[in-house]
Amino acid sequence: MSSTAEHTPQRGGPLVLDTRTLGRRPGSMREERRTVALEAQIGNDMIALAAGTPVELDLMAEAVIEGVLITGTGTGHAEGTCVRCLKPVGETLELHLTELFAYPGSVTDETTEDDEIPLVEDELIDLEQTLIDLVVLELPLQPLCDEDCPGLCPQCGIDLAIAPEGHSHEMIDPRWAALAEMAGAGGDSVRAEEPAADHPETDSPTEER
Ligand SMILES: [Zn+2]
Ligand SMILES: [Zn+2]
Repeated sequence: MSSTAEHTPQRGGPLVLDTRTLGRRPGSMREERRTVALEAQIGNDMIALAAGTPVELDLMAEAVIEGVLITGTGTGHAEGTCVRCLKPVGETLELHLTELFAYPGSVTDETTEDDEIPLVEDELIDLEQTLIDLVVLELPLQPLCDEDCPGLCPQCGIDLAIAPEGHSHEMIDPRWAALAEMAGAGGDSVRAEEPAADHPETDSPTEER
């Protein structure tokens, strides 16, 4: 994503709040409810809020001495892929916003690093970076279709959740195969290729009649 956080907020932008009605009077507040469609995906290859995903915002903007405090919730549906079985995964994210946007020149602005606290710019607040940060925090690092998802068989790739119980492959670990060979060379172990030859005396009673 490009550095959209750098640009000044555009009045009327989907994630831009106009704070003029608060009049910089500490204590004045306004409810802000809106559903916005994301302009760009937020997330990663495994799971994300896709571009166009509606995000419901239920916010309160409150003027405080240092700026405007935004609190409230955001809800959006993330879609992704189970890291174990690659089935689609969906998850509704509940975001909890608490962000102070400082007035330029306020003590908070003067005493913090440039990018530490967002600013009220031209009486506008841009929630985009706040939202991005929250979503990234909230998205699971390892999305799973189910906590107990058994994943795919590493040998044949079948989904173990639907494979017959006890699904496995008769495969001898090469290291064990080498050991078996050595043991066989030593003498008395039975070799699979020549089952009848090893104990002729136990096979022969019928021939003695
Ligand atoms: Zn899964
Ligand atoms: Zn298999």
